[in-house]
Amino acid sequence: MTNLRDVIEFAHSLWPLSGAESWDAPGLVSGSLDAPINRILFAVDAVAETVQQAVEVEADLLITHHPLLMRGVTSVNEELYKGNLIAQLIRGNVALLAAHTNADVVENGVSDVIAQSLGLLNTAPIQPGVVAGTGIGRVGQLPQATTLGALARELADLLPNTAGGVKVSGDFNASVSRVALCGGAGDSLLATDFVRTADVYITSDLRHHPAQEAREQALVSGGPALIDVSHWASEWLWLDVAAEQIQKQFPEIDVEVSDLRTDPWDFLVVQ
Ligand SMILES: [Zn+2]
Repeated sequence: MTNLRDVIEFAHSLWPLSGAESWDAPGLVSGSLDAPINRILFAVDAVAETVQQAVEVEADLLITHHPLLMRGVTSVNEELYKGNLIAQLIRGNVALLAAHTNADVVENGVSDVIAQSLGLLNTAPIQPGVVAGTGIGRVGQLPQATTLGALARELADLLPNTAGGVKVSGDFNASVSRVALCGGAGDSLLATDFVRTADVYITSDLRHHPAQEAREQALVSGGPALIDVSHWASEWLWLDVAAEQIQKQFPEIDVEVSDLRTDPWDFLVVQ
């Protein structure tokens, strides 16, 4: 019988905890290492819907990208949503494991999967990690040059649907071939050389000031167009790859990916 200890040991060989950012809190959030594991559910977020789904499908383990408990928590009072979710998980016999920045940096990690989906060639991390070939974000070459508009369309088709869609800053017809990208919130990489020398930078959660400053600087000294996609959608692509890796190692376990949309936005009013 495969237990949680076996799954975690393998998970942490795929996504070593040493690769995580210092502010992050990946790893086991709740659960017993001796618990038998027959079914695993993957999701980007541990939220009411996905926790409920994990309990309903009788998953023994929920693996999420975002850690439910990342910053200091002083109570698991069930009137507070985190306490409520932890209680539901424990009562439902569902362990919770988070694979966050440690799953961002690796080969077949969150950004690497987006790069692969776009067919990027000669990819390298935007910010290299300690282990060769790992690091935050990816930069690479499209197999053939396209336009900014066509690339945005391709992303819209590739990613699961969200209310926010795909937002672009730049000329629709501009030619693009060198692409930098970072799954999740990547505005901290805007000033890096790899991003500044790319034709386009794809990431999520770009706020007014960082986006505007990057575009204004591009007018003076060159710089990338920007494509802003849903944070959830950009990370969701990775779940299938991660689930496949776990499934291959543990063929006896039933591994599923939640298709519930946990992007926080529900609708958009276009002006
Ligand atoms: Zn994220």
